[in-house]
Amino acid sequence: MPDRLTVFVTGASAGIGAACARTFAAGGDRVILAARSKGTLDALAADLNAAHGDGTALAVVLDVTDAQAHLDAVAGLPDGWAEIDVAVLNAGLSKGLDPVWENTVADVDLMVDVNVKGVVNGIRAVVPGMLARGRGHVITLGSTAAHAVYPGGVVYCATKAAVLALTNGLKVDLHGTPVRATTVSPGIVETDFSLVRFDGDRERADAVYADTNALTAEDVADAVAYCARASERVNVQELLVTPRVQSGYTMIARGPDAEGL
Ligand code: NAP
Repeated sequence: MPDRLTVFVTGASAGIGAACARTFAAGGDRVILAARSKGTLDALAADLNAAHGDGTALAVVLDVTDAQAHLDAVAGLPDGWAEIDVAVLNAGLSKGLDPVWENTVADVDLMVDVNVKGVVNGIRAVVPGMLARGRGHVITLGSTAAHAVYPGGVVYCATKAAVLALTNGLKVDLHGTPVRATTVSPGIVETDFSLVRFDGDRERADAVYADTNALTAEDVADAVAYCARASERVNVQELLVTPRVQSGYTMIARGPDAEGL
């Protein structure tokens, strides 16, 4: 593993992806920031380059649902950025909190396209180069939702179960190679995730994180960095990380029960 990793992060414009970019950059690594929001990516790249030196961050506009765009984005990386050591396939979202038969076709398509096909598109784009170079690591963002369904989140949970299966399957397909595959599966994390789920309804989103002590995006970034920096002898297959207030996948202590946690 080189001292300075080149880390490709999808969904780097917000939340966990942006925190991963900041954490790797602060650790001396170089980060390729991929997402759809060009302005936000450019601002984050400028911040990281100012804080950690020019050449720390590169912004790449990418919609992960577009398989060809994913291939082109990786193939078109400028000299010095093309050798991706770690790919954090993080872009993902949930839409709505309704019984599965009430989910709109558009919401179902979006969750499957971003969370499942987006990860496959990422794997197809980065793994051939990793195999050719004889090193690399794919880290996907799963969820406790892969392990236990909750009411109203059935399709999202199914997509996260698929991410876990895809990553476990990737490790099997990579058997005998030096390339590693990991899923980091967080519990509740306070990000824009619920704002996206509830179509910008701030009050409803804030209620998800009220009176409790959810993980921060930085907590999850620390877990991702741990997996990436583990000895090359090690493959963390899955790292399940929840806040202390969360138990048994879906139980979340609130109010007085969460005090001191
Ligand atoms: P977030 O704050 O809403 O960030 C989501 C990121 O995904 C944004 O950067 C967004 O950027 C990007 N994205 C969405 N659609 C995309 C597309 N089609 N192409 C490229 N990028 C796209 O959410 P988060 O909490 O950080 O979630 C990150 C990952 O963690 C997701 O996979 C989520 O399922 C997982 N996770 C979250 C939690 C939680 O409680 N927050 C728990 C477990 C797992 P653009 O809009 O700029 O494209």
